[in-house]
Amino acid sequence: MVISRTSQTEICGLEFVILTSTSQSDQRPCPLCGALERRLVFQRDGWHVVKCSACNMVFIGDQPLAYGTQAAEHDWADDYEKEVSRRKKDRPLLMFFSRLTRPFRTDATRRQFSHAIHWKREGKLLDLGCGDGRFLAMAARQFDVTGVELSARAAQAAKERVPQAPILVSPVTDAAVPADSFDIVTQFGYLEHEWQPRVGLGAAFCALKSGGVVVIKTTNYASWNRIVMGENWCGIHIPSHCNYFTPATLSRMLRDAGFDPQPRPLLDRLPTSDTLWMAARKPQPQTGVRSGAIF
Ligand SMILES: [Zn+2]
Repeated sequence: MVISRTSQTEICGLEFVILTSTSQSDQRPCPLCGALERRLVFQRDGWHVVKCSACNMVFIGDQPLAYGTQAAEHDWADDYEKEVSRRKKDRPLLMFFSRLTRPFRTDATRRQFSHAIHWKREGKLLDLGCGDGRFLAMAARQFDVTGVELSARAAQAAKERVPQAPILVSPVTDAAVPADSFDIVTQFGYLEHEWQPRVGLGAAFCALKSGGVVVIKTTNYASWNRIVMGENWCGIHIPSHCNYFTPATLSRMLRDAGFDPQPRPLLDRLPTSDTLWMAARKPQPQTGVRSGAIF
């Protein structure tokens, strides 16, 4: 197995490896284990979605986009609209039925809020990848909130929506947030966009107080719908989504980042959902005792 570990960064006294390929192939090493061996899942528009031969992580295996390029040329709001247009053109019937069922689906922001308050009901909340601030606005009713967002346009919308909250315009991996300060960190629809997801989890670990919880929502590559739809699955956005987690790969990355993944309620464990919800606790360093689930 070829492991590429070419540089390290330190967050809160913990070392995080920046995985950068040392080969001439311009391949992105596996963001979970660092291996370079992989098999092609599919390719689109010059991008290669691959599965790591060592740990089964699925990800875009090409060289990462710089954060500046990601913000300037792949703003999520623009890329999302492009993908929706592509799907309307390629699969109009499927999109028609999807629109019909929209009123019956749970409001996404309320669902995020409900997951957050399962773990903490008050205190300081940090939303990493806060987008346009819809969740922050709801969370601000119960928490003292702070947001971090890479897209200047989305961050501006968040500032207008939640004027009392500090909103930092920055990559999450480089955000100047105080260490050991937050009771809860949320990452809703962020990890799938982050080319250094392990470092992104490190930022959450650093910001949390001991015993604090990170609550994550990302796409569920293990869903039955993905297995049926293949590369036409609704969770595929190229190159905006560069990581495709399963419960197994996300749990492993959380443990690697120092977290203690929490048991998941039955409803969240069903493979019928395209969304993967997971919470993990920052352990108390002096005891090392694993915390029980609140669910
Ligand atoms: Zn791997």
